[in-house]
Amino acid sequence: MVKHYEQVWESCLSYIKENINLQSFKTWFEPIKPIRLQDSSLTIQVPNQFFYEWLEENYVGLLKQSLVNELGSNGRLEYQILVSDPRKPGMSDAPFKGKDIKNPFVIPGIKKTKIDPQLNQDYTFETFIEGDCNKLARSAGQAIAANPGGTAFNPLVIFGEVGLGKTHLAQAIGNEVLNRFPNKNVLYATSESFTNQIIESIKKNSVNDFMNFYQMIDVLIVDDIQFLAGRVKTQEIFFNIFNHLHQNKKQVILTSDRPPKDLEDMEDRLISRFKWGLSADLQVPEFETRQAILSYKMEKEGVDLPPEVVEFISYNIKNNVRELEGVLISLIAQSTLNKRIINIDLAKQVIQNFIKKINREVTVDSIKDLVANHFNVPVDKLQSQTRKRSIVIARQLSMYLAKNLTNKSLKSIGENFGGRDHSTVIYSCKAVRDLMDTDLIFKDTVAELEKKVQLSLNG
Ligand code: ADP
Ligand code: MG
Repeated sequence: MVKHYEQVWESCLSYIKENINLQSFKTWFEPIKPIRLQDSSLTIQVPNQFFYEWLEENYVGLLKQSLVNELGSNGRLEYQILVSDPRKPGMSDAPFKGKDIKNPFVIPGIKKTKIDPQLNQDYTFETFIEGDCNKLARSAGQAIAANPGGTAFNPLVIFGEVGLGKTHLAQAIGNEVLNRFPNKNVLYATSESFTNQIIESIKKNSVNDFMNFYQMIDVLIVDDIQFLAGRVKTQEIFFNIFNHLHQNKKQVILTSDRPPKDLEDMEDRLISRFKWGLSADLQVPEFETRQAILSYKMEKEGVDLPPEVVEFISYNIKNNVRELEGVLISLIAQSTLNKRIINIDLAKQVIQNFIKKINREVTVDSIKDLVANHFNVPVDKLQSQTRKRSIVIARQLSMYLAKNLTNKSLKSIGENFGGRDHSTVIYSCKAVRDLMDTDLIFKDTVAELEKKVQLSLNG
């Protein structure tokens, strides 16, 4: 009895379906179309070259078994590839001309497409100073680099405050993997670029190509996943990619500014996946580590700071390695431009300027909190319409500080106070200045609050 190619493929599919999970089945087998059956050779059409490579690399045994079941030991498979290369722009849906690949079971070692990892090569383990603050994350990272996808740390979630080295460490792992395994595909993506690509691919109707592309990666690094919050479609696609990579023992590395359990507007199923591997935090570096980092950066910049200056900076800049670098760079700039020797005085000056610069990033909300707290009024009253004297003063003073200590426009400050318009803010600032002129105690209060706002940022 002559079997019909569709029947044959149908039976192969039911065998395959029983032997892999549903998600992989949907991703890799549902899109396949049987084309013909000739002399025990079944031709199937796959969407693109990558698809073919993927099947060959991951499912060749399964495919073979399913065919042998149906067609006996002579059973052969031929592929027809619909589209030449999904990664190239301007692809068309026209069937690919005459590229039938024969007897795939005997095609040796398919070459993988190499992709640009998008890594910064300066971010390596050698340049990432070790300290108690980063011990766990750093050594987990090294274990992963030696055996990507093969450790229990999958995914690795590196979390911690801004400026503590998440991006550096995540990329160091990627760089080290490429060092040891030049053939592996590593890809670094910020959550933002990942999301933008998805939006693009949705617009262009090419979500499948997007997924296929991501699925061919051995080590995927996604930076700052807290920015995926509230992005339902992105999360859904990411979930699928994640599952696929994880099932295939590919390594996933994520960074976040908070522990996975505290991620907001993130699907539970994603968060539970993040917890499968290891979550390791980066803490604020201790004094010795800050000194070590500073010394290392000095060497790199080719400058030699007196030990007491290194100590002074390390002592005063506590919470953020990026700030530590910033102070060093300003210090070097100051001393070259103004031909001054680098001593504690200059360091003090630079740190002060640096702190002022940061202060321009004070938020209106933090000012409101401080003022409300000082006057012992509920913070939401500041944006209410209440005309109660004590609240009016607190409100006007908050606006005054917001005007002087942030870069916000009058309009946006007004909006932040219950949708008042900019003339109200001008009026409030004037009222505060007038009161300061006549009431010295009030003037002191204002000065004290100004100081508190500054301190709150650097405490
Ligand atoms: P995050 O991504 O956590 O905001 P980054 O990785 O961007 O922080 O780090 C900020 C800066 O501090 C980078 O220039 C990085 O090289 C540097 N840095 C952070 N931690 C270390 C460290 N342990 N050793 C050396 N440099 C560090
Ligand atoms: Mg970062």
